[in-house]
Amino acid sequence: MLVGMTETGPESAPRTPAPTPLTPLAEDWERGLAIVAHPDDLEFGAAAAIARWTAQGKQITYVMVTSGEAGIDGLAPDRCREVREAEQVASARVVGVDEVEFLGLPDGVLEYGVPLRRTLAEVVRRHRPEIVVTGNFRDTWGGRNLNQADHIAVGRAVVDAVRDAGNRWVFAEQLTDGLEPWGGVREVWASGSPEAEHGVDTTATFAAGVASLEAHRAYIDGLGWADFDPAEFLEGGSRQAGQRLGTTYGAAFEVYPMGWGE
Ligand SMILES: [Zn+2]
Repeated sequence: MLVGMTETGPESAPRTPAPTPLTPLAEDWERGLAIVAHPDDLEFGAAAAIARWTAQGKQITYVMVTSGEAGIDGLAPDRCREVREAEQVASARVVGVDEVEFLGLPDGVLEYGVPLRRTLAEVVRRHRPEIVVTGNFRDTWGGRNLNQADHIAVGRAVVDAVRDAGNRWVFAEQLTDGLEPWGGVREVWASGSPEAEHGVDTTATFAAGVASLEAHRAYIDGLGWADFDPAEFLEGGSRQAGQRLGTTYGAAFEVYPMGWGE
């Protein structure tokens, strides 16, 4: 709410509408799995929320579909892969995540389809999470700010793979050596979606989120953005989400309910 504005009548210029409040995300879960296309995807908005949840004792694992090896113009993929995997492992540790899995699919040219769904269903069956976090997979970040192809492919495949994982007749060849179907994912949460209607207070963990983005130093330097300041960058979106939550900082997510009453 704007404070101190004079009362305006119907003839005055329209005021900016108050932002829609965000509904707090559920926190009554124990195991989360974050699946994104690239190292750094979680650090551009979700990491402070991850830090909050691990501080609550939740167990969260990161899964990187690619190693972001095509992400630094001045660094060839073979060398870049090593640098970015190391940065991601360090970045995860800052927010209380000790396990980072790299699936090794090719950066920049991911395709949505059955092979990607199959790979991700196996991951979901192995980790058996209650909540799956992914990145925004809508066409844009809002307005005309276009999303990236790998993000769209991965997010769509995550939602489908969560369903596939619960169906014993889909990718049935995976169900050997004790691997079972897993239908226990309650919701998929897409970080940074322009359609986000949920959020979480990250005031206490905002600094950890900044530190986890700063851990991607080689990547940030490689972007060549002059004077890019991780704290300043994250502050923008976090304050907006916080305003919608009634907190100083927040992280916004679009919620996809996955329950089928199993
Ligand atoms: Zn990305």
